Amino acid sequence: MQKQNKASSIVDFNQIREDFPMLKKSMHGKPLVYLDSAATAQKPQAVIDAITNFYQNQYGTVHRAVYELSVHATQEYQNVRKQIQTFLNSAKPEEIIYTRGTTESINMIAYSFGKAFVKPGDEILISEMEHHSNIVPWQILCEDRGAVLKVIPMDDKGDLVMKEYAKLLNPKTKLVAIAHVSNSLGTINPIKEIAKMAHGAGAKILIDGAQSAPHLPIDVQDLDVDFFVFSGHKVLGPTGIGILYGKASLLDQMPPAQGGGDMIETVTFPKTTYNVLPLKFEAGTPMIAEVVGLGAAIRYMTSVGMENIRQHEQELLAYATEQMKEIPGLRIIGTADHKGGIISFVVEGVHPLDIGTMLDLKGIAVRTGHHCAQPTMRHFGIPATARASFALYNTKDDVDRFVVALRDVIKMLQ
Ligand code: PMP
Repeated sequence: MQKQNKASSIVDFNQIREDFPMLKKSMHGKPLVYLDSAATAQKPQAVIDAITNFYQNQYGTVHRAVYELSVHATQEYQNVRKQIQTFLNSAKPEEIIYTRGTTESINMIAYSFGKAFVKPGDEILISEMEHHSNIVPWQILCEDRGAVLKVIPMDDKGDLVMKEYAKLLNPKTKLVAIAHVSNSLGTINPIKEIAKMAHGAGAKILIDGAQSAPHLPIDVQDLDVDFFVFSGHKVLGPTGIGILYGKASLLDQMPPAQGGGDMIETVTFPKTTYNVLPLKFEAGTPMIAEVVGLGAAIRYMTSVGMENIRQHEQELLAYATEQMKEIPGLRIIGTADHKGGIISFVVEGVHPLDIGTMLDLKGIAVRTGHHCAQPTMRHFGIPATARASFALYNTKDDVDRFVVALRDVIKMLQ
């Protein structure tokens, strides 16, 4: 287990809030209560400073040049890769590939894994609670390769039906692609068990960690997953950067997803040979400043401690859920026993969009809509929900303000 995952000292989460300049803003004349971290997280000053400092004082390209600036940028680029390796506890740094985000990581795997391993009649298994990013790339792949997409159902609490999962696995299953934490319901899926079952059937497993990497300690070796992907902007880092973790033994057998500079060994017109990992999957000038910003974000999260973050958000989840259950006509969508800090809800006779709009006027930012999970909404027979989601910088005071405002808004709208 990683050192950073141990709950260490007591963290003052009220103090952590002070590190985030956006959280000192007011909206419509009211102090901002930011409850949309499942969409994107606010940034600590350390991340903003790291990016500014890089552009102001250290900017240069990576890999290509011998001058000092480029050498330094290359070192930083590789150091951050090692930090991510530690963050995920992967076996080797070259298993960490920089992408633009979760969406790009999944698309790259679908393309490359599909080309290497998926034949007509093979099956790809996803679940009913996936984000569109973990549905559509597989539909495209299946159409392309003549493969079949199968879906693990969930129950009305928002838990996967594991018996059905077991039945769906068979020798034709090539890959199981599942969210670690559902962005619309908050369900934390039992990944270790899911991975074991997939491997037992001879399939590989991809975890969409967009909603788990910011909130839970992750150990890809302990989980024994083949791919794990997440987005920088949800772990307090900048937009435009993401991670694709893959076991080296698998990535080595997969073709590049894009061609261009840096991913090659030699280029001649008749034939090009490809670079080794990770560069084989990093074509073109990469997002250098974004990598620097991501490094600062991971250092920040690690210094707080992922186990501390998990515990803090579990407390907020329990505190908010208790109070929301008391509101007449409010129904929480997603009531699994193991949940992350996400509460989706609907209110009898009130449209979620109106709730979101009225809460905004009170300085409270929540998300409304289908959360890029239309099949999940369909399961519950609703077009949309309002969703409050927490991060390490939220406090019980945020929850109190949210609940008071929500009660007011519902009274006005009903
Ligand atoms: N999967 C899940 C579970 C998500 O929550 C998100 C972001 N909402 C994504 C995938 C896509 O992430 P991105 O838009 O950063 O590529």
